[in-house]
Amino acid sequence: MLSADALVIGGGATGAGVAWDAALRGLDVVLVERGDLATGTSGRFHGLLHSGGRYAVKDPAAADECVRENGVVRDVAADCVEDTGGLFVTTPFDDPAYADRFAAGCRTTGVPCEEIEPAQALREEPRLNPGISRAFRVPDASIDVWKLVWALARGAQDRGARVLPYHEVVAVHRSGDQVHGARVRNARTGTEMDVEAAVTISASGAWAGRIAAMAGIDGVHVMPGRGIMIAMNHRLVNTVVNRCQMPTDGDIIVPIHTVSVIGTTDVPTDDPDDHTVRPEEVDAMLEEGERLVPGFKRARALRVWTGVRPLFEDRKENGGATDTREVTRAHALLDHRERDGVAGFLTITGGKLTTYRLMAQDTVDAACRQLGNARPCTTSTERLPGSEDGEQYRIGERLGRRELRLSDDQLICECELITRRRVEDAIRRRGTSDLDDLRRLLRLGMGPCQGGFCIYRAAGILHGLDGIGTPDANAGLLDYVRERWKGVWPVLYGDQLRQARLDEWIFQGVLDIEHLQ
Ligand SMILES: Cc1cc2nc3c(=O)[nH]c(=O)nc-3n(C[C@H](O)[C@H](O)[C@H](O)COP(=O)(O)OP(=O)(O)OC[C@H]3O[C@@H](n4cnc5c(N)ncnc54)[C@H](O)[C@@H]3O)c2cc1C
Repeated sequence: MLSADALVIGGGATGAGVAWDAALRGLDVVLVERGDLATGTSGRFHGLLHSGGRYAVKDPAAADECVRENGVVRDVAADCVEDTGGLFVTTPFDDPAYADRFAAGCRTTGVPCEEIEPAQALREEPRLNPGISRAFRVPDASIDVWKLVWALARGAQDRGARVLPYHEVVAVHRSGDQVHGARVRNARTGTEMDVEAAVTISASGAWAGRIAAMAGIDGVHVMPGRGIMIAMNHRLVNTVVNRCQMPTDGDIIVPIHTVSVIGTTDVPTDDPDDHTVRPEEVDAMLEEGERLVPGFKRARALRVWTGVRPLFEDRKENGGATDTREVTRAHALLDHRERDGVAGFLTITGGKLTTYRLMAQDTVDAACRQLGNARPCTTSTERLPGSEDGEQYRIGERLGRRELRLSDDQLICECELITRRRVEDAIRRRGTSDLDDLRRLLRLGMGPCQGGFCIYRAAGILHGLDGIGTPDANAGLLDYVRERWKGVWPVLYGDQLRQARLDEWIFQGVLDIEHLQ
């Protein structure tokens, strides 16, 4: 059994943010996540650090939260942020009247916004639709979620927090009107243990209703809104580009690292683990991309994935909307002592990745009120591990560093410039033979070949390391290839289809991975 001041359920950006904030305030924290960190919605999002522009007209409460947090996150998590800037452009397919409403909405909500000449926007982003008639500059940026979540977790661990990936909550312990922890199952070994805590914080996003139900609390209704995104193999734009229209499907392209990602759809679902990709959604997304960047459909699509939005509606207070786009993107903190008369239990859900820090602050403030801890929040000024110098990430940095020491180390992943030493260090540090864990840590296999050339090399490294047996290394390889295939098959056309055929020859024809022992 473990005991702690605070048990945090959920290892997405919000849960990791809560753990970091609580640890900074001197609380003893245990964080549990049923998979690896950031494998829920946080690891399946679009990559945008919102300026608030997207919500300036439709959802001022969400815009306000984004405006407040954009500048803070750029500073405290600088290493995770690339300052791409953002543009909202009126294409020939958009209602021209929206542009004035957009500018007015930005003024009202405080989103920094400057109108520029369309010709200037086209000089900066020459691939944009040449028919654009208005263009606005906003401080959108892209953010690397795996760097962020692991930096939060590392920071919390450095201050004593125990972070337990692959630990699923299977029961919440409640006696009368008090929650006092949970039972967790180790997903790798199947063993179970209790975590006793003075306050239990559910930061389980789209799964929050299920965790609340385990505590015997009804009406925490999270309406999951499923969306798909597609990564294209180049930065077709270097700025986040948004269509200047009411938020809808396929109207943003986010450049992140070496790719650009188009998204997203918003389809109501009743299962937060629903990762269906419909061919018509993929087609629609590519068509919409074509409207922003002519030629988009002919570019090489690498991979498609889905995420499920945690859209919260308090059914205790109203009947509930049915259209997921109508539900606010602002966050919801439920203090179950006030709401349901159940002490020691909080739920934080809704919001955006951009607002993780604010969500964590509100939550830990509420936890501290219950615990009688008066220490103030410091996460708006305390920089995360890796971001101490306040330097934001710049594209080309890794290549620059690598070129200085070209012959020092073997290159395992050419697309993402990952060396043998980094792979070995990551395997030892995480104590894992799961190549998908390494993908999230290092971006291993996230380039155009989708692991075709680097993953069998990484599996070879696993074979050579002490403590990892041949069956584990082989299973790691097979699991990785199967997992990647889920995202590759819906976008198989053109060059990527040829790449997939080559990968198939390597994995099935040469290595026969299905029958490795
Ligand atoms: C398609 C899409 C695109 C988006 N794009 C953006 C964007 O560009 N910018 C932006 O700011 N926001 C974006 N968002 C919103 C953003 O991704 C989410 O609001 C945010 O990631 C939610 O983080 P979270 O930590 O609250 O939830 P999650 O990341 O989902 O974390 C909750 C965690 O709880 C875990 N969990 C569930 N049940 C249990 C259990 N029983 N035991 C232990 N753990 C459990 C889950 O595995 C999960 O990891 C997007 C969302 C979607 C769906």
